[in-house]
Amino acid sequence: TAEPRVVLSARGLGKDFAGFTAVNGVDLDVHHARIHALIGPNGAGKTTVFNLLTKFLQPTRGQITLLGQDITRTPPDKVARMGLVRSFQISAVFPHLSVRENVKVALQRPAGLATQFWLPLSSLDRLDARADELIEQLGLARWRDHRAADLSYGRKRVLEIATTLALEPEVLLLDEPMAGMGQEDVQMVAEIIRNVATERAVLMVEHNLNVVADICDHVTVLQRGEIIARGDYATVSNDPRVRTAYMGS
Ligand code: ADP
Repeated sequence: TAEPRVVLSARGLGKDFAGFTAVNGVDLDVHHARIHALIGPNGAGKTTVFNLLTKFLQPTRGQITLLGQDITRTPPDKVARMGLVRSFQISAVFPHLSVRENVKVALQRPAGLATQFWLPLSSLDRLDARADELIEQLGLARWRDHRAADLSYGRKRVLEIATTLALEPEVLLLDEPMAGMGQEDVQMVAEIIRNVATERAVLMVEHNLNVVADICDHVTVLQRGEIIARGDYATVSNDPRVRTAYMGS
């Protein structure tokens, strides 16, 4: 079966830090409605690739395309407005505001749904409706009026994803979304990411290989800055180079 359209791609992506090659020759295609995992041992270059794609780092080599447009030299704020959004840290959530207030604040950000700074009264209803829709979609309805500070760690993370979705991204980048979570929260967040990916592309850096096996459609494996395997999880996990890499070399 044909894959949905490619929304984000990299060709020959590379980054040197003061003569040290952290990333080299990385080709990557991220598809609409698919979850793509970037995995590899510590120091493999995952974070660097993530930062290159979101333009937090400028590539030394290669090209990045978002929705058919070359973004190799585009600054990160512009890239975010074009539809490539990374999840920020939980600190981006206002602890004293409720879940609903947090989502509404996010929806009113300049790059959000409401593109005008001054909202006509009629769109305030639309804002409420969209906030509730997002809250519902992310399974936060029961906590709608709770202060963000009172949520469990896992649900704070989900709220943080909700505020990122307020920007209506075509591509959502998640950097270790399950980090520091217990098994129950991991499962909850995995389900939510799966749900979120029905309408957009997700690229995630993830250490938990059970999660990758469960929810990721495509996997790219990095080692020492280069791709050593790609495919679905079953394919890459049987690759001898991947097995060796994970045995610790
Ligand atoms: P991963 O996320 O897979 O653990 P990183 O992308 O963080 O890997 O790092 C890849 C390599 O690049 C590592 O060897 C790391 O030490 C190096 N590196 C990352 N960022 C910098 C930097 N700002 N300056 C110098 N070296 C860096």
